[in-house]
Amino acid sequence: MSYLPADFRHGRRRGQAKPDCVVVGAGVVGCSIALALARRGYLPLVVDRAEDCGQGSTKLSTAVIRQRFLHAPAVALALEGLRVWQQWPEFLGVEDPRGMALFREVGVLWLLGGPAPRLPALAHMMETVGAKAELLDAGRLAGRFPQLHIPEEPSTLNGLYEPEGGYVDDPALATHNLRVAAEAAGARFLFGTRVTEVTSRFSAATGVARQVTGVVTSSGSAISAPVVVNAGGPHSGQINLMARSPLALATAPVRQQLLEGPAPGLMHAPTHLPVLADLPGGWYCKPDAHRFRVGSLDPRDELDFQADPDRVDPVVSAAFRKDKLSGAAARLPGAKLRSPRPMVGVYDVTVADWHPILDRTDLDGYFVAVGTSGAWFKGAPVIGHLMAELVEAVRDGFDHDRTPLLVRLPYTRNLLDLGFFSRRRSPIAAAGVLG
Ligand SMILES: Cc1cc2nc3c(=O)[nH]c(=O)nc-3n(C[C@H](O)[C@H](O)[C@H](O)COP(=O)(O)OP(=O)(O)OC[C@H]3O[C@@H](n4cnc5c(N)ncnc54)[C@H](O)[C@@H]3O)c2cc1C
Repeated sequence: MSYLPADFRHGRRRGQAKPDCVVVGAGVVGCSIALALARRGYLPLVVDRAEDCGQGSTKLSTAVIRQRFLHAPAVALALEGLRVWQQWPEFLGVEDPRGMALFREVGVLWLLGGPAPRLPALAHMMETVGAKAELLDAGRLAGRFPQLHIPEEPSTLNGLYEPEGGYVDDPALATHNLRVAAEAAGARFLFGTRVTEVTSRFSAATGVARQVTGVVTSSGSAISAPVVVNAGGPHSGQINLMARSPLALATAPVRQQLLEGPAPGLMHAPTHLPVLADLPGGWYCKPDAHRFRVGSLDPRDELDFQADPDRVDPVVSAAFRKDKLSGAAARLPGAKLRSPRPMVGVYDVTVADWHPILDRTDLDGYFVAVGTSGAWFKGAPVIGHLMAELVEAVRDGFDHDRTPLLVRLPYTRNLLDLGFFSRRRSPIAAAGVLG
């Protein structure tokens, strides 16, 4: 099984003038949705207010590809994403003149402080889904990762190691790769154009339910389409309001501070460091020697919800800088950052449970792929596939609200219940965030 439908031909509907679906947002999620829809014979038009794809939340993504989540459907989505990143050129099927993003399979190591009685059950669940997970006590951690400073006391430090994890080197380039593949399949892109309204009318059939009719843009043009997908990242909540379709599970922008710079000590190191998630220290790092990044995992760091994702304070606090840099330097003595650049990104968070919402809505024809909560770059190429399956099923009369759609994932063959990502779910117990 592959991501290409059996009857797929590149650009088969390129001559057609009118789009039959509008995707709002050309981030990694919107571009992936456009690719999957175009491969099924739709003619998607992706509208983005930026001048290029991947300039929103995606641009500053750490793009860590890990599988540790507390719930099997999330592990299944992450694992399928991993398999896609491992065979990125084959998945895309086209060359991008700008170059191809690279998945660096350096492993992901989680460090957990104190007794962790539930860790074996978590590793077992991950392996049942197909994800590799190794448990390491303090002694084995020190032997396996000599680059890390593991103090002899406390000896309660535990590790969960994902040997197949890693990171994608350039998330904006990966998004451009998706765009090129989507265009080759017949999708079109409209940049520098903001969607200002999502239009609808009462359905002729029922006179009660509303049906989406398209969007209006900042240039005043109306674009008609029977399907509109919200992939607006941190603007997702605003776009739902434009569609007069707010969700019971609200999404909201959350500000995130980061530090990034070269780590000269790693440039000629004989072994790679894994991505490290140091839970007792409250930080994670992407171990790229040229763009070494440190971010927060600290539940004590304030959750910095933003009223407006376009007015986010760009200044990284001195306390953040001091705390994260000293934590990383103590754990990784060989990876001192040179002139770290402070950066501020924005997550689109599902406020109640930090899991994405991939669903239809009460407005017929209006779909959402939102609330990726700082963690779903990894699954974005698969999210496109899931959304296209959902759009098609609903078009064919499937009642997803009554019986959630089940999707067989092409590479891992896991069966994913889309009810897990429903807008109507009860909030899921959250796992915390590291990419
Ligand atoms: C700092 C940071 C670190 C992260 N680290 C990881 C990680 O390690 N691993 C991982 O898997 N995930 C990670 N994530 C999460 C991941 O990057 C996001 O889930 C993903 O990039 C979201 O993509 P998107 O396409 O939904 O949103 P975006 O990339 O934000 O795209 C939305 C697009 O919509 C456009 N838009 C918004 N409103 C409108 C409008 N009205 N009209 C037209 N266009 C509009 C925007 O311009 C934007 O281009 C991280 C995110 C951040 C911010």
